[in-house]
Amino acid sequence: MTRFADLHLHTYHSDGTRSPREVIDLARERGLDIVAISDHDNIAAYFEVKRYADERGVLLIAATELSCGYDGVDVHILAYAFNTFDERIDERLRRFREVRHRRGHAMVDKLKTLGYEISLERVEQLAAGGAMGRPHVARALVERGYVASINEAFDKLLGGGKPAYVEKARFAVVEAVALIHDAGGLLSVAHPTLYRDHERIVPELLDAGVDAIEIFHPNVDEENRERYRNLARFRGKFVTGGSDDHGTAKEVGTLGSVRVPEALIGPILERV
Ligand code: AMP
Ligand code: ZN
Ligand code: FE
Ligand code: FE
Repeated sequence: MTRFADLHLHTYHSDGTRSPREVIDLARERGLDIVAISDHDNIAAYFEVKRYADERGVLLIAATELSCGYDGVDVHILAYAFNTFDERIDERLRRFREVRHRRGHAMVDKLKTLGYEISLERVEQLAAGGAMGRPHVARALVERGYVASINEAFDKLLGGGKPAYVEKARFAVVEAVALIHDAGGLLSVAHPTLYRDHERIVPELLDAGVDAIEIFHPNVDEENRERYRNLARFRGKFVTGGSDDHGTAKEVGTLGSVRVPEALIGPILERV
């Protein structure tokens, strides 16, 4: 029997709302056999529920979603099946989380000067010790009634170029590629259609050493799926997919809405 995978999921260790256990339970309930929890800048969920997943017949693959800079564009790259005890990865991710935390402070300060009083403590609580991000700040703004939705928070205040936006450190793509390859892992371009000029950028990311393209994602339409399926094939790369579920934090995809047959992700399965 063919097994099905969702290789792009978030928990409360980054900007999702579910616990890692809830993700595993829900994945199983919705007929998934292979799962990668790809929280931003951390792999806490993997250590927390690897055993739990095994016991329930779910193959959990180590993963994280890295924010990379390429040509001035914020590009997300998914890393899979790397050695989770690699010290350089651990060190690098820890530094990114520290920067995220300082940036959280800076955003709260900026909002205050703009007349939006949210507490740093609340943002920290929402981030729950994981990778703090704009979605946590957005949720605090919604809670205080300053905006009606997380989307409105981004549109009015937190999006790039908006009044409370604060820059964040990013990986250079070549650095992310070297780091993950050295630790035995593989990389995939997350939600390829979400980048300005993606038709030019995605092929260049493959040239830079990224191994796959996430063609199954709620934001990738049929036409682009075909475009990038063909590109991957011509370049000797492979394809991945996932729902990008964030629990109730974001209406992107819902767990179970993307089911990737295991035959497509052989290169990842060979490494676990
Ligand atoms: P950060 O990593 O802190 O810069 O936050 C980026 C994250 O915010 C992305 O991974 C998305 O999950 C989320 N995000 C970006 N734009 C929006 C938006 N317009 N509405 C809701 N969430 C967004
Ligand atoms: Zn996210
Ligand atoms: Fe992303
Ligand atoms: Fe994501």
